[in-house]
Amino acid sequence: MTPINILVVDYKEENISTLKALAKRDDIRIFFTKSSNEALKLAWEKRIAITLIDVQLPEKDGLELAEMLRSNPRTKDILIVFLIPQSNIVKLSALKGLETGNAEPLYKPLDHKITREKVESLIQMSRHNTDIKQRDEELQNLTVVINNAAEIVCIVDASNYHIKIINPAVEKILGYSQMELPGRSITDFAVEAQRIDFRRKLAGIVKDSLSYSAFEFEFARYDKSIIWVECRVVCQNKTLLLNISDISEQKNYQNQLIKSKETADQGKKVKETFLANMSHELRTPVNGIIGLTNLLRKTQLNEQQNSMIDLLEVSSQSLLGVINDVLDIAKMDAGKFNIVRSSNNLHDLLRAVYGLLKFKADENNIEFSLEIAPDVPVNLMVDSLRLNQVLMNLLSNAIKFTERGFVKLTVSVLQKNGDQVQLRFTVEDSGIGIPENRLSSVFDSFEQAEEDTAVKYGGTGLGLAIVKKLVELKGGELTVTSQPGKGSVFSFINWYITTNKPKEKVSFRTERLLEPFENVKLLVAEDNLVNQFMLSKMLKDWDIEVEMVDNGQKVLDKLQFNQYDLILMDTHMPEMNGYETAKAIRSNFSEPKRSIPIISLSAASFDYEQEEALLSGMNDVLSKPFQPQELHRKIRRLLKTADVIKSLA
Ligand code: ADP
Repeated sequence: MTPINILVVDYKEENISTLKALAKRDDIRIFFTKSSNEALKLAWEKRIAITLIDVQLPEKDGLELAEMLRSNPRTKDILIVFLIPQSNIVKLSALKGLETGNAEPLYKPLDHKITREKVESLIQMSRHNTDIKQRDEELQNLTVVINNAAEIVCIVDASNYHIKIINPAVEKILGYSQMELPGRSITDFAVEAQRIDFRRKLAGIVKDSLSYSAFEFEFARYDKSIIWVECRVVCQNKTLLLNISDISEQKNYQNQLIKSKETADQGKKVKETFLANMSHELRTPVNGIIGLTNLLRKTQLNEQQNSMIDLLEVSSQSLLGVINDVLDIAKMDAGKFNIVRSSNNLHDLLRAVYGLLKFKADENNIEFSLEIAPDVPVNLMVDSLRLNQVLMNLLSNAIKFTERGFVKLTVSVLQKNGDQVQLRFTVEDSGIGIPENRLSSVFDSFEQAEEDTAVKYGGTGLGLAIVKKLVELKGGELTVTSQPGKGSVFSFINWYITTNKPKEKVSFRTERLLEPFENVKLLVAEDNLVNQFMLSKMLKDWDIEVEMVDNGQKVLDKLQFNQYDLILMDTHMPEMNGYETAKAIRSNFSEPKRSIPIISLSAASFDYEQEEALLSGMNDVLSKPFQPQELHRKIRRLLKTADVIKSLA
């Protein structure tokens, strides 16, 4: 606590000594003087709060000194108590000016107890006065801040919402003059359509005596224009304290953002639809070419024709590869790409990849090796399709970009944690390497290390972009180090869960052994002529009677007058697509036709399209390109189920 400064002005030593006893307290500091001139100096310099003045001073009398203190702004608030000799009490009490003192005078000789009590009460009074002064100053400062505030600050009666006090900011924000507002309801500012809501909001705050609430409303300005405001409200002692700020600009910005997001979403949707259609449009003819190549291979061919068929197959497979890569990238960008893990034998998977590429490495005279560390678990939860894709990409690149030397695939364990294991896959080669300044960009779509890479080595620059995204989707990281002329090391790290032995995969018998069907009649809906040709050839080879139509409406027409055991239906067809047709069969036909088995055949590459096929009532889906044995298996399975149902009926 800051000590209180007391000034005692008395020329008699014995009076001063009585007061000296008080000076021992540490919450007060007492200054003594016998001279009134010195007293003026001390009062000026020492921030004196209380002064005890002997009225009979030699140089100037005490009353005169008190007068001088009062007249100076710096000393005018000092509490003054006169010290009056008991003997002169009558004479002095008649003196003019004695009332200048702030309290009853003290009589000399000073009584110790009375003096102490008096000083104590003066100290209280002085402290109280200082507090009030301080608060007064703070209040004045606050008033300046409020008057200069950019937002509206407003005090409102909580019982009727009438404005009590409002700052000048209201003129700038709402266009009203500050003076005309006290007494008006704050709810009048809200636009008519929102006034009841605004009143309700305030009522809620008052009812619950909320210490803070913030909300947004539209207010009408004096000139009838409308702005968005944010109100921050506190309810205190039956009074509402409001801060109101103009947030129109923010709101506009927010609305623009929402609009841009909607436009972006719309764009994304258009892109997805476009890709879904492109996927169908591009993959259908390529599937046709691949299928026809297979059929052609089964006919009598001379050596030259055989090698042309080989080239046809390689070209169509690589075209399908590029289309699939573009679709994969698009699916990942659209967030529609899922990693599907299942129990798999990792060692088998690695050996299969190795086996597939070994001949290519041999062709190029490159030493190709696979090293699996002994502690790498055999059975893991793995998305085998995608891991295969990643390794095939990295290894094909390594072989492609290595003219001599070696390519090595190494798999090692980094850590184990319970049933989880962190593996590092490394593909190392002694090939051409990648210049340092191109190291990061080779992971971008359609980027290659050099201008002439495509010319010299082919490729599209999509592989690494896909690999990187796949590794990241699995929660890992792909890194590369490389030295031009010496070689490159690509590696990625992923966590896996170890499992028991994977389920035996259903092994397909080869096409040659596919058994023919007996008395089976199928309706096939397919608009692509090449696919029609392939399908009918394939089905007839299995002794199935086939009727072919090229749109959904024709399926319905045929089904009405004929009996079929199963329908194979393309999803994208003119006039009436596969989904609509399936729905119409499931709802408009009567049994048993209503439940006829339907297999969807589609070149679609998005999962949701397959889901839609099932939702529209089809029993199974098969995406193109498919293996003949897979179609054979699905037909057999569905016919068997249908037979069981028939026998139960
Ligand atoms: P692509 O192989 O179709 O060109 P990728 O995305 O797989 O596309 O690779 C991008 C580029 O990265 C390649 O064109 C090549 O310049 C460089 N690259 C990838 N792997 C290697 C490697 N093992 N050695 C040297 N360069 C490589």
